Amino acid sequence: MAKILVIADIKEGVLKGSTAELLSKAKTLGAQAAVVAIGSNIQSLTPDLAKGSDTQYIADDPSLELFSAGPFAACVVEAAKAFEADMIWFGFSETGKTVAPRVAAQLNAACATEITDVTLEGGKIHLIRPAIAGKVVQRIRVNSQTLVAVVRAGAFEATPDLAGTQNVVALAVPATDLRAVIREILSDASGEIDLADADIVISVGRGAKDQAGVDLVKELATDLAAGFGSSRAMVDGGFMAHNKQVGQTGKIVAPSLYMAMGISGAIQHLAGMTGSKTILAVNKDPEAPIFNVADYGIVGDLFEVVPILKEEIKKIRG
Ligand SMILES: Cc1cc2nc3c(=O)[nH]c(=O)nc-3n(C[C@H](O)[C@H](O)[C@H](O)COP(=O)(O)OP(=O)(O)OC[C@H]3O[C@@H](n4cnc5c(N)ncnc54)[C@H](O)[C@@H]3O)c2cc1C
Repeated sequence: MAKILVIADIKEGVLKGSTAELLSKAKTLGAQAAVVAIGSNIQSLTPDLAKGSDTQYIADDPSLELFSAGPFAACVVEAAKAFEADMIWFGFSETGKTVAPRVAAQLNAACATEITDVTLEGGKIHLIRPAIAGKVVQRIRVNSQTLVAVVRAGAFEATPDLAGTQNVVALAVPATDLRAVIREILSDASGEIDLADADIVISVGRGAKDQAGVDLVKELATDLAAGFGSSRAMVDGGFMAHNKQVGQTGKIVAPSLYMAMGISGAIQHLAGMTGSKTILAVNKDPEAPIFNVADYGIVGDLFEVVPILKEEIKKIRG
């Protein structure tokens, strides 16, 4: 039976949904699943970590409060060795992308990022991985014994009421990594919803023209408590911050609902949002490529459509 170690994604003390998604997939593959959680004051997360896992490796220490790649990788390696993991899965986060290659190097394992599916065939691990901004899909057969994988956001569905066993194993706290000491992490001071966490994401494109257009679309995002994203055109135009850019060179999002407002649908933008469960596009050009991936399309001027959407949503919400 394959053994899969899932790295818990914990942000400011909160366990992110990607952890349950990865544990659900591990169960679907019929694997034995364990989870490793790293942080400070995280013991209270144990019952949730036990949903879908049979062992919880926990490194809980004040020195681990701020993410630092060296000590985090050391904890994951220790857990992987103790569990004798065949696969080590990270969710799609800055932390995962930073730590995964270190862990792979230390375990002499293969490393694959942006994975959208994993299967086990004849004792071998097979992976699916979109590449070149989604233009091709790679099918990879892993020949090494151990695989470290970073899974794309939204690739796997969480199963409700996952069974598991609470069996906590405390990990030794690694010595401080003297090559890099993180003193402080400054989060986005805007207080806006993080695109990676948002259930709804509304993105604005060049069709919004200027700051007034951006503000109009932002009002809709605020009304729906949605994350507010952007195409690169609006970032390059100075209307939106780079951390709001969705796409190949921005964030990859997979919300329940993605609304593209005045975005043409260039391949580099699509690379960041086609994993969304439902896509709504508003564009005045009926030939815009965004309509090829949209579940719902409104051909129209966003300056007319957005106020109507706002009004209708207000009515529905009473
Ligand atoms: C290496 C590389 C990496 C890139 N990475 C990214 C990336 O990560 N993310 C990204 O987004 N782009 C990225 N790009 C840029 C990408 O190629 C496109 O240029 C960009 O996505 C276009 O943004 P846009 O759709 O907002 O603008 P445009 O392509 O100019 O489209 C604007 C759209 O708005 C519509 N429109 C105009 N007025 C209105 C109106 N009043 N109401 C409704 N619709 C209207 C138009 O019909 C048009 O379809 C990258 C490019 C390169 C070369």
